[in-house]
Amino acid sequence: MSKLYVIGIGPGAYEDMTVRAIQTLKKCELIVGYKVYNALVRPYFPDKEYYETPMTGEVQRCRYALERAKTGIPTALICSGDPGIYGLAGLALELRGEQTTPEIEVIPGLTAATTGAALLGSPLTNDFAVISLSDLLTPWATIEKRLAAAAQGDLCVVLYNPGSKKRKGHLSRACQIMLKHKKPETLCAVVRNISREGQSHKLTSLGELRDMEVDMFTTVFIGNAQTKLINGQMVTERGYRDV
Ligand code: SAH
Repeated sequence: MSKLYVIGIGPGAYEDMTVRAIQTLKKCELIVGYKVYNALVRPYFPDKEYYETPMTGEVQRCRYALERAKTGIPTALICSGDPGIYGLAGLALELRGEQTTPEIEVIPGLTAATTGAALLGSPLTNDFAVISLSDLLTPWATIEKRLAAAAQGDLCVVLYNPGSKKRKGHLSRACQIMLKHKKPETLCAVVRNISREGQSHKLTSLGELRDMEVDMFTTVFIGNAQTKLINGQMVTERGYRDV
């Protein structure tokens, strides 16, 4: 049987990988991934064959994994976090199209939104939106529309891909849009390298976030009107105590 497993390896640490992801990686012979993710799993699965492409080689990586899996080699295509959230599960399914082989199984993982939230306290207790600030595949005008809609609905917002060397200024523009509907003192946080070496987080306000520099290893949290600082932690109240 030919099978491709698209596996979410979680944010970084082995402990944050699911048992299902670990068990599946154990039975795979080939692991295909972006080199940073391969480096995260390699110490735990040293005897596997590895194939890596640079960050922008997504299509090539997926095609390669599909081809090798088709020949009967149990293959893992690994993604950080969850493979269905800005990951390669969709692309693998698209590229296979209506063909019946290889079989594809998507194995979920812990995404940056929930692992970052746990680090901060509980900022996502109520409704929230996840928006990527990368305009590589989505036009910036669409991103702006989504940001405005989320802010209008007073959703907590998690921003993925908030910045990179090439994408300076995106976070600042996103904050300006949010500030049309949210107060400048809205509690926000920036979380970097979740569950990886150098993990750090910083609480801030929406007004200050506008001027902060962020990189591609960062996830940004923007609170709603019920988000508060409780004992140093970011908490969005759901209203349990009001009923
Ligand atoms: N599939 C991944 C997201 C990939 S998009 C997931 O479900 O988590 C890449 C973006 O995800 C990064 O720019 C960053 O915003 C976020 N991210 C992924 N892993 C992270 C980590 N360990 N620490 C902080 N942010 C992370």
